[in-house]
Amino acid sequence: MNPSINTDVLVIGSGLSGATAAITAADAGKNVTIITKSPQLKSGNTPKAQGGIVYKNSTDSIEKLKNDIMKAGDNHSWVDAVNLICNEGPPLVKKILIDRFKVAFDTGDSMGDNGDNLCRTKEAAHSESRIIYSKDKTGDSIQTAILSELEKHPKISIITNITAIDLLTLSHHSIISTDIYKKPACFGAIVLDNITGTVSSIYSQRTILATGGLGQIFLHSTNPDDSIGDGIAMAWRAGARCFNLQYIQFHPTTLFSGSSRYLISEAVRGEGGILIDENGNEFMNQIHEKGSLAPRDIVARNIHQKMLDTTLPCMYLDISFKDSDWIKNRFPSIYKGCMDAGIDMTIEPIPIVPAAHYICGGIGVNLEGRTSVKRLYAVGEVSCTGVHGANRLASTSLLEALVWGYHAGKDAAIFRDGDDHFPEIETWVDEIDEIDPALIAQDWLTIKNTMWNYVGLIRTRQRLHRARTIMRNLQTEIEDFYQKARLTPSIVGLRNGVQTAIAIIAATLEARESIGTHYLLEDKE
Ligand SMILES: Cc1cc2nc3c(=O)[nH]c(=O)nc-3n(C[C@H](O)[C@H](O)[C@H](O)COP(=O)(O)OP(=O)(O)OC[C@H]3O[C@@H](n4cnc5c(N)ncnc54)[C@H](O)[C@@H]3O)c2cc1C
Repeated sequence: MNPSINTDVLVIGSGLSGATAAITAADAGKNVTIITKSPQLKSGNTPKAQGGIVYKNSTDSIEKLKNDIMKAGDNHSWVDAVNLICNEGPPLVKKILIDRFKVAFDTGDSMGDNGDNLCRTKEAAHSESRIIYSKDKTGDSIQTAILSELEKHPKISIITNITAIDLLTLSHHSIISTDIYKKPACFGAIVLDNITGTVSSIYSQRTILATGGLGQIFLHSTNPDDSIGDGIAMAWRAGARCFNLQYIQFHPTTLFSGSSRYLISEAVRGEGGILIDENGNEFMNQIHEKGSLAPRDIVARNIHQKMLDTTLPCMYLDISFKDSDWIKNRFPSIYKGCMDAGIDMTIEPIPIVPAAHYICGGIGVNLEGRTSVKRLYAVGEVSCTGVHGANRLASTSLLEALVWGYHAGKDAAIFRDGDDHFPEIETWVDEIDEIDPALIAQDWLTIKNTMWNYVGLIRTRQRLHRARTIMRNLQTEIEDFYQKARLTPSIVGLRNGVQTAIAIIAATLEARESIGTHYLLEDKE
C-alpha cells in the first residue's frame, strides 16, 4: 500500500494535548499533519471540561501543589513527573494559554494576589485557590483559542473525519522480514476516511497519540460518545507498554436522563445540595461524617451501592430548598442542562448516577512523552505520565495535556537516526461484508454493562474473572467479523472498545494493591 501522505510528525487527536503538540512541533519547523475522527477539530473531552486548569496564586508554591497531587494520587504518583508538572505547568499556562493564545479566563475588577486580575477558585483536595477558569466552560474556551491558531499555522495540515485504525510498526507491517530484529518502532498509521470508506496509510517520522479518554466503554460516562479508548487499543496492539489502567475516576453526580450524562459539578454539594434516596431520605449522613460532601470516590461508591440495593436506576441530588433565583444565578449551565432534560432543579431533586469520568493510567510515557515504542509518543488523557498515580487531583488533566503536549511536540521535532526508515507495507485488501448494525449495538451493550457492573466502582475477583471471560469471547467474535467487514468507523470503534476493556480488566486483575480509584471489595473487608 502506498502512503497517501508523508509527514514529519503525525498527531492523532485534536484536543488540548494534540493541538499543543502539533503547534509546538510546527513552530520548530516540522511539517505536521493532525487528524481527528470527528467531523470538526473541536472534539473529544477538552471542550467538555468545565471547572478549570491549575495555575497559581501568591501564597501557592511548587511544594504545596506537589503535596496535593501526591496525596490525591494515594502516593502512587511518579515523583519526577509530578516535579515536572509543578515546576513547568504554571509557567506554561502563562506563556501558552494566557500570553500567546489569550484564552478568555475570567477576570475580576481588582488586581488578583499574583499581580494579575484573573479569578481563582479552589476545588476538592486543593490546599490553595489556584484554579483559573472561563465561566463553566474552561475547556471550550481553551480549545477555541488554540484551534484558531492551529488552523492558521503554515506548517500544519488538518484532516478531519479520518479514523486511525492501527499504528504502523516495523514488526507488524514492514514487508522487510528482517525488520523484526530492529527495536520496535512506529512509522505512521493506517487510517479510514469516514466519508468514502477508503483505507490508506500515513507515513511519519514521529507519531503522537493524543486520542483522549475511554469513559464510553462504561454504561454511564461524562465523556462524549467517541471517547472509547482508541489510542490504548492501538498502542496495545502495537506492543507499547500501558499501565495504571485499573485507576478509573468515576464522577459521583451526573444527570440521569436519556443517554447522555451531563456532569453536575461538586459545587452543587459544596453549596449545600444533599444526596437523597427515592423516599427523600439523606443517606450519606450514616456513611461519612461529611455526609453528602464526603470525598468523591466514597460518594460515588455509595450511590452505586444504593442503586444496587434498591435496584433503582438512579438516586437524587436536592438543592431545591435554596432560593430559585440564587440557584439560576449560581449554576446557569447546570440549570440549563437540567431544564433541557425537563428537570427544574429549583423545584425538584435532580436524578443522578455516578459515571466514568477520567482514566488516570494509559500508555506509559517518559517526561518527553515518549512511549516504549520508538518514534511513538502519547500525550494527554491517553497517556500515563505518572502524575495522577491512583487518583487525579481536580483540574490537573488539562495542565498535564498542556505540559506533555508541549514537551512531546518539542522532542518529536528533533530528528534522530533511523527516523527516516519507511519500509513498504502489504497492500490493504478491502473486504466487503456489511455488518448487521444490530450486532454492533448489542456488542456495545455487552461491553458497557459488563464494564459498569463488574469492572466499575466496586470490584471483586469473581466479577473481574467473569468480565474477562465475557470480553475474551466477545473479542473473538468481533475480530472474526472485523476481518471480513467493509470497514466503517463504528466497526473500528467496536474493535477498539473491546480491546481497551480487555486491557483494563488485565491491569485490574494484576493490580497489587486496592488503592485510589481501584476498589477491590475483598481487600477492603
Ligand atoms: C465533563 C468533563 C469535565 C472535565 N473537567 C475538567 C476540568 O475542569 N479540568 C481539567 O483539568 N480536566 C477536566 N476534564 C478532563 C479533561 O477535559 C481531559 O482529560 C482532557 O481534555 C483530555 O485532552 P486530550 O487532548 O488528551 O484528549 P481529548 O480532548 O479527548 O481529544 C481526543 C481527540 O482524539 C480524537 N480521536 C480519538 N480517537 C481517534 C482515532 N481513532 N482517530 C482519529 N482521531 C481520534 C478525538 O476525535 C479528539 O479530537 C473533564 C472531562 C470531562 C469529560
